[in-house]
Amino acid sequence: MEKSISGTERHTLTQTIFDLASDLGAVVVGIAPVDRFHAENSHGLGSGSSYTATGYAAEDLLPGARSVLVVAVRIPHGVFASSLTPLETTYVFGNFGYVHLNRLLNHITYNVACHLEDQGWTSLPIGACGASRCDLQSYEEGLTISPLHGIFNLKRAAVLSGVGRRTRSGLIATSLHGTRVRLGAVITAADLVASPMIEGTPCPSQCRICVESCPMNAINVEGHVNHVACFSDNGRRGTTESEILSEMSRAFPIIDTQSGYLAHEHAAIDGSGNRVCRAACMAACPLWKVG
Ligand code: SF4
Ligand code: SF4
Repeated sequence: MEKSISGTERHTLTQTIFDLASDLGAVVVGIAPVDRFHAENSHGLGSGSSYTATGYAAEDLLPGARSVLVVAVRIPHGVFASSLTPLETTYVFGNFGYVHLNRLLNHITYNVACHLEDQGWTSLPIGACGASRCDLQSYEEGLTISPLHGIFNLKRAAVLSGVGRRTRSGLIATSLHGTRVRLGAVITAADLVASPMIEGTPCPSQCRICVESCPMNAINVEGHVNHVACFSDNGRRGTTESEILSEMSRAFPIIDTQSGYLAHEHAAIDGSGNRVCRAACMAACPLWKVG
């Protein structure tokens, strides 16, 4: 029999979960009911479901899922200030843009999931859930969200849970920290109180900073992001499209789901390099100043 929860209990549990996630380091928390994920895709900038439904559905990953909790953690501004210097190191962004934040997102989502289970609700922590798959068909069809994706689409979940909005660069922008955030999620059987979504696009209509700052011309003015060009990372992983796709196929399972996973964190070691492009699209985006 399906476990039920009263209105008062729902509000209390939801607030408890928000407080716990915040205490653990989340700067934004939101809840999306799984029904929101069933709405038809539309790919326009600022629309509620402007990311294609890549990866698995919440109910596929956790049978009986009713809510998706999304958390955002911040990347400190100093990380970008340092990353944009001409110094030949990618250590700081690699660590505090990826590695440490992956662990923090695992820590937050694991603890939230355990707390929900202590209350009787089966819950699945997703953590940072970075890209691990390549869908060539979506690349060839020119979809807004190009081929690289993880097992669960965190950016789509972030829009649907009101954590942020989609920007021209394809990143999620939160109200307080702009695009300087990383995302994680918990899928749960608990019927938590839904958060309101945020309407419209966060990007000023004339802003082209990310488009012009990307060394690979991976972002166009309509908000299409070419993940193949982005993956090349300023030429480090190839310069021609075929070279980049060939390199990509070494790291991502293009055909099946059983082989070729990307070892995310080896790329964050200083000297191996993590984004020699210096994540210019994120570093130059002014939305964190808006507040
Ligand atoms: S991460 Fe680098 S290559 Fe990719 S879109 Fe941003 S600036 Fe361009
Ligand atoms: S740089 Fe400008 S256009 Fe690009 S994501 Fe940020 S606000 Fe939007």
